[in-house]
This record gives sequence, structure tokens and C-alpha cells, in this order.
Amino acid sequence: MDLENYQHIQEELKGGKARLVAVSKTKPLADILFLYNAGQRIFGENKAQELLPKHDALPKDIEWHMIGHLQSNKVKYIAPFVSLIHSVDSPKLLSEINKQGIKCGRVIDCLLQIFIADEETKFGFDKAEVMDFLASAEFTGMRNVRICGLMGMATNTDDEAKVNAEFAGLKAVFDEVKATYFAQRNSFKELSMGMSQDYKIALKHGATLIRIGSLLFGERA
Ligand SMILES: *Cc1c(COP(=O)(O)O)cnc(C)c1O
Repeated sequence: MDLENYQHIQEELKGGKARLVAVSKTKPLADILFLYNAGQRIFGENKAQELLPKHDALPKDIEWHMIGHLQSNKVKYIAPFVSLIHSVDSPKLLSEINKQGIKCGRVIDCLLQIFIADEETKFGFDKAEVMDFLASAEFTGMRNVRICGLMGMATNTDDEAKVNAEFAGLKAVFDEVKATYFAQRNSFKELSMGMSQDYKIALKHGATLIRIGSLLFGERA
């Protein structure tokens, strides 16, 4: 646990429009409570089966964000309480979230994940796919999800120019999607980008949610 890093990051965010998502995956309840007691309220997890018991055990004013690849058959576990799903990487997944939203009488806030990195392991839509999907009847018929913005992960590299270019590219897609489909919607405002090693670059490019794990909780096993 690194309270100094926590306070330092909150200090950096002060006066700006970005909020911190503390990524607590693999970390115990005690670590989460420690940051909670320091004032943190938004926590991110990447597995539904880990998110559910943590939600059950911890204070109910925590906003839980799902940030990792989500399998359709796991949506039902988190649909009743999740505050934001960052990692919607396919129409099929969004359709399942909508279905579970109907079941529990909620409109579930989501971000569409955009593929911006080199790595094959990163999930997401490309720009053409996201533009087509948002125009489709399949999407406009979904009443129990609300798209609040976009999310992306840069290539894991020390090459700052590359990371800069990837975040700038994501911001450009955000601006185009906003202008084309959500110009009138104040709720479309989130740009989730930046992790421990690249969040400063992400902030320069307009991130509104930064997802930080290891800087706060230490390296994961
Ligand atoms: C684990 C994870 C993070 C946080 O990574 P750190 O490098 O520990 O800050 C951010 N986003 C996603 C999607 C993650 O899975």
C-alpha cells in the first residue's frame, strides 16, 4: 500500500477533470479498505468472480468499475450493482449487458473499448467497427445500457512517442464518436486511458478516468 503515491496522484488530479480508478485486482479486502479510509471511492477489478465477493464484503458507497475482458456468461454476477463497465469489446457483450440490465431493472453505464495498441492480446473495436455499430439498429434498440464514452490501453512500451500517438488517436476517435452520435448527450464524456506507467501521458491527451493499480497497491504477484 502506498499512501504517498495515492496522495500524490490525487494532488495531480486536483482541479482537472480526471478521476482515479484504483485497480485492486488480486489485492485483499484490507488493502482496499485502507485506500477507502484515505478517501478513495472508485475501485476497478478485472474479473467478475472477484468483483462480486469484494462488493458483498465492502462498504456500499464504493463505485465498482469492471475494467477487464468480460465474458458474456459472467455479466449476470455484476449487473445488479456495477457502476461502470469500461471493457465492452463486442456487440455481443453489450447485448448481454443490455439483457441483464432489463432483468435487474437498471440502465448500465458502459464504455466501448477501442483497440489502439500493437499487441494482439488487447481486445476492442477499431474505429470503423465502432462507427458502424453505433449506427446500427442492433445498438439503437438497446434501452438498458448507456454508452458514457470510450476506453483504451496503449502498447506496453517505454517508447513515449508511440504511447503519445496511441492516446492522441483514441482522443480523436472519442471526438468523432461524440460529434457524430452523442453531441447532445452530456453523459457521453468519459475517456478511460492511462495506467501506472503511462497515466501522465494519458492526462495530457484528455483522459477523464485513469486506471491505476501497481503504483497504489504495489506490484502484483
Ligand atoms: C491491471 C489493469 C490496470 C492497472 O495496471 P497497473 O499497471 O497496475 O496500473 C489498468 N487497466 C486494466 C484494463 C488493467 O487490467
